[in-house]
Amino acid sequence: MAATDIHIPAPVLEGVIDHIFRAAGCSEKESARIASHLLGANLAGHDSHGVVRVPRYVEWLEAGFVLKGQQASIISDGGAFVLFDGHFGFGQTVAEQATQFAIARALETGSCIMGLRNAGHIGRVGDYSEMALRAGLIAINFVNVGGSVLVAPFGGTERRFSTAPISVGVPLPDGPVLLDFATSFVAEGKVLVASNGGKALPEGALIEPDGRLSADPHTLYGHYEAVGPRNASLGQGAIRAFGDHKGSGLALICELLAGALTGSATSGPVKERGRITNGMLSILLSPRHFGDVAAFEAAGRNYVEWVKACHPADPASPVLIPGEPEAKRRAERLAHGVPLPQEAWANIRATAVRLGVTIPEGL
Ligand code: NAD
Repeated sequence: MAATDIHIPAPVLEGVIDHIFRAAGCSEKESARIASHLLGANLAGHDSHGVVRVPRYVEWLEAGFVLKGQQASIISDGGAFVLFDGHFGFGQTVAEQATQFAIARALETGSCIMGLRNAGHIGRVGDYSEMALRAGLIAINFVNVGGSVLVAPFGGTERRFSTAPISVGVPLPDGPVLLDFATSFVAEGKVLVASNGGKALPEGALIEPDGRLSADPHTLYGHYEAVGPRNASLGQGAIRAFGDHKGSGLALICELLAGALTGSATSGPVKERGRITNGMLSILLSPRHFGDVAAFEAAGRNYVEWVKACHPADPASPVLIPGEPEAKRRAERLAHGVPLPQEAWANIRATAVRLGVTIPEGL
């Protein structure tokens, strides 16, 4: 968080975003849903997938890359699995609908494998794991981004993968375990932030065409002005996958399961520039159907506590469990407001003003 960040109370910010999507032509329900998901990403601390995306989402809507008012429809239903088409609707709408269906099925039968093709950007994947967690289910989500090729495979210098995220949620007493990350070394949003003078990238996050490692955003965006848009198709280099061959392998699996198996697009070769689609393959499991829930919860919680009790390498930083940083950040931001860089807020304001949305006084 920078000293110059503006802090906006969460309900106020959510209201502005809600009104922007209504003014852009979305229904009240869809606008509220998109606003809630975007704000939720900021509350979790994943600003790269939060309200900063609003101007781009509105541009995609106006360009017809994403469509309002769509319903996820069933392509095939085999009982143990169900495949949906999102018809390029807002990801927050169609992924929520498909996930709700899969949750009901898993609660009934013990498990459900759900595929979703042709969804607009679904945002923070952890949101869909959290929906399953609230129903007491385990969720394993593989996601890819068709039309967005940004990441080099291990040993390569050219872009082949999307940032292909994975999220796994396990419900436990006193808080779930919630893993949720991109398989790229850094999410593209973090390169964007660094290019705007924000937090620098870790060494070796990017790779040049000649194989030199880089932390310079120009590797991804090519030439850009200090203020103005960034275009990832202009750079010559790529983001690297995290964890060398391991993260690279996971990215490949996301492309195959979420992109190819579901019939959504894989990340390349890119045929149609402009439209990006998320594909998702979700596996939901009901612990109740697997056996003794109390025994599972006790064993899981005991184990997690033992992991957390590990002697920390830095006494000031105790060992954390995935999901804990987000829960802590959410509590802080609900109490003290959502910090936004001035430039990000200026861009959201400009979109609001263009659409005739009134901004609350003082902001
Ligand atoms: P990240 O690198 O910040 O990793 C987050 C994960 O690591 C979380 O599970 C978090 O709980 C855990 N974590 C963080 N610090 C920890 C610590 N000290 N100890 C233990 N666990 C810790 O995430 P990212 O790769 O930057 O991804 C950010 C977001 O972007 C995610 O929500 C992801 O779903 C989203 N994303 C979406 C798309 C899309 O197309 N929709 C694409 C890429 C990423």
